[in-house]
Amino acid sequence: MHLIDKIYINGRFVTPQGHDMFDLHNPASGEVIGQVRLGNESDADAAIAAAKAAFPAFSQTSKKQRQEMLRQLHDVVVDCEEELLAAVVEEYGGPVGVMSQWMAMAANNFTAMAEALEDYQFVRPVKSATVVMTPIGVVGAIIPWNSNSGFITNKLATAIAAGCTTVIKPSEMSALQTDILARALHKAGLPDGVLNIVNGRGDVVGEHMSRHRDIAKISFTGSTAVGKRILRNSAESMKRVTLELGGKSPTVILDDANLAETMPIAIAAGFMNSGQACIAGTRILVPAHMMKQAEAAAIDAINTVVVDQPGNPKSQLGPLVSQTQYDRVQGYIAKGIAEGATLLTGGLGHPAGLGGYFVRPTLFGDVTNDMTIAREEIFGPVLCLIAYDSEEDAIAIANDTDYGLQACVFSGNDARARTVADRIDAGRVLINGLFHEPQAPFGGFKQSGLGREFGVFGLETHLEAKAIHARP
Ligand code: NAD
Repeated sequence: MHLIDKIYINGRFVTPQGHDMFDLHNPASGEVIGQVRLGNESDADAAIAAAKAAFPAFSQTSKKQRQEMLRQLHDVVVDCEEELLAAVVEEYGGPVGVMSQWMAMAANNFTAMAEALEDYQFVRPVKSATVVMTPIGVVGAIIPWNSNSGFITNKLATAIAAGCTTVIKPSEMSALQTDILARALHKAGLPDGVLNIVNGRGDVVGEHMSRHRDIAKISFTGSTAVGKRILRNSAESMKRVTLELGGKSPTVILDDANLAETMPIAIAAGFMNSGQACIAGTRILVPAHMMKQAEAAAIDAINTVVVDQPGNPKSQLGPLVSQTQYDRVQGYIAKGIAEGATLLTGGLGHPAGLGGYFVRPTLFGDVTNDMTIAREEIFGPVLCLIAYDSEEDAIAIANDTDYGLQACVFSGNDARARTVADRIDAGRVLINGLFHEPQAPFGGFKQSGLGREFGVFGLETHLEAKAIHARP
């Protein structure tokens, strides 16, 4: 049994003042594997005070010093990758083969930010003025459970690059992963108070952070509902916010695409991270006259997906994170059936031979874009096939959503795909494949969020532009 009973404040591991204990589960079996002691508002206050005290000196460090820190942070995370991977498998149920690549991405967030700094000019002339890009202050980072290390490292890297100090509140469901990462990050030897990590519930520690006057900015990744609450709470002290929220991403398959080649990629985009991905391509749009073929190709592609214990290196789809998520996803599958969509594969209950929080990879046909399963973020391996009549119709359906995080476009003609991509309202559009460029901006249109992360775009959300005017 794991016991996580320390949080990280001012360069030290300390016992939280909060007394509440939270059970950690193995999602593959549902068994309790440990407990975490949760911090409370007093812990958040101590962390914020430490970050505030560290800010004046840290904000004066040079770009070169901060690049050196980022490289050091990269190295310590690489050193803990194996331990972290074991925790991701045990505590999150992430398939080991898939997650090993994600671990490398977590460490690389630091080197990518060091690279973004390379040519960045913090001080630049603008006509008769001098503009100084100034670190914003203490950054509160609030993190979901679906990519704990990736989000912590990216948000920390951005804050460090900008010269900001941080208080990080991860999800209580990721305590084991957070503990391993915190102990690794400690070894990088950052000045005391620059990094603080407080485990705790969202409605306690998260809520307190989003109202606290000494936090200048909240960088949040999570659900749209909580994002709206943070935005409201932040208004009082005029906090800056970056909100990375939910999605209902369209995958547009044009009529000149090769279905046999395209469909496995479309299914992989939908089932990414066992369906627990904000960017998951959950609405697959297909020309009506190709629908029968598309259904067959999609079922074939799903039948090849290996759903198994996360420790099996061949597994591609693991369990969901919690009983709550399992129940929620079952509810959406039942709703899809009740609203008249056709269950093409999968359905209610567990996959054969698997228990815990495993869900059957599920595909619905005959879905219209007004059905609940086409409108709401399900956050599980449940996909919709939606028919369209013309390219114009496809674009209209793709954009007929409250969200706008990501889209995919598949076509035999790259230039044609590009004209469709240009008309889709989403922060990122992928053409004929799945890609990630760590220097490019990432974030959402509409209710998928506010602001951008990664590269210079992410860096600048942690800086205030100050114009200095002086006598010539
Ligand atoms: P969540 O919104 O429930 O929780 C996210 C974090 O916010 C957790 O640390 C939680 O404790 C905290 N929180 C909860 N209530 C809070 C409050 N009142 N004030 C402050 N903090 C609070 O989301 P989740 O269930 O952990 O994660 C899944 C959601 O995250 C999905 O909607 C998904 O789309 C979204 N997500 C978005 C992105 C993106 O980059 N756009 C990436 C991953 C996940």
